[in-house]
Amino acid sequence: MNEFALIAQYFTRPPRADGHLRLGVGDDCALLDVPVGETLAISTDMLVEGRHFFEGTDPEALGHKALAVNLSDLAAMGATPLGFSLALALPAADAGWLEGFARGLFALADAHELQLIGGDTTKGPLNICITIYGSLPPESALRRDAARAGDEIWVSGTLGDARLGLEALQGKRVLDRTLLRPASTRLHRPEPRVGLGLALRGIAHAAIDVSDGLMGDLMHILERSKVGAVIDADALPCGEALAAQDAGLRREFALNGGDDYELCFTAAPEQAAAVQAAAQASGVRVTRIGRIVETHGLYVTDGDGQPLAIAAHSFDHFN
Ligand code: ADP
Ligand code: MG
Repeated sequence: MNEFALIAQYFTRPPRADGHLRLGVGDDCALLDVPVGETLAISTDMLVEGRHFFEGTDPEALGHKALAVNLSDLAAMGATPLGFSLALALPAADAGWLEGFARGLFALADAHELQLIGGDTTKGPLNICITIYGSLPPESALRRDAARAGDEIWVSGTLGDARLGLEALQGKRVLDRTLLRPASTRLHRPEPRVGLGLALRGIAHAAIDVSDGLMGDLMHILERSKVGAVIDADALPCGEALAAQDAGLRREFALNGGDDYELCFTAAPEQAAAVQAAAQASGVRVTRIGRIVETHGLYVTDGDGQPLAIAAHSFDHFN
């Protein structure tokens, strides 16, 4: 199979009637309409074999995750997805791998009425890079620099199961089969909270998606907003598998797990009912975990308000 046959067979699909795409895969550029009065929201994420996923990972799960992590960035900005491009380096044109990958990718794209608008395909060590394009009214973006002292801090869904699943698959931890399944599903098939991000426009102040661990990601909001925070480690919503572990591990993985792809956001206390309504409308639970304060730094307490000495161990590729 040559490069163009591969693109035609696996990555070219009829345009969606409801889309914003004037011209898709096959020309020098894609042509994409941005809704009048809105601004583009753009994000790129790369998945590298051996670094972000193990060799031999199910290609369908990879197709899902590669797009999910990008959608999660749009969700964290409160943007509506418009389209995405795919840059792919492949060691070989393996039909079985490509079929699985395309299935996972397009299942999630279709669920979000999102089109593949173009990309690049080359031979090389397996590397999947997606750039996603969304749009939003500029004043309603959920920016990291918008948290204010007095805001409540919320997190969607549950935390920690992806990290637990990772450590179980790496053989660092033994997990019961009934817990390994939900934990590895969280690791391989994160659900981007796009609907929640949209529903939080005009309600939330700042937001971020939790990819590297709650503490490290919340720190990004604090630094950008020049504020501090107090969070209750015992209020954090643990995943099904993590909830069955001891208290120390529950706190550690909920605070510093990574790969959760939940939204952490802040909103004024008067907006608490609106936050709950937004969560209900988008079918995901939200939990209040703390508050934004003027004093810089991130302070973690237990359920009784006693300080805990827990540091952020955010993932850093070069550290
Ligand atoms: P160019 O030489 O102009 O960069 P290419 O030969 O790389 O074009 O790609 C041909 C067409 O196929 C372009 O429209 C490009 O956007 C699209 N394309 C290439 N690879 C992919 C891919 N993995 N997924 C979707 N579209 C792709
Ligand atoms: Mg090219």
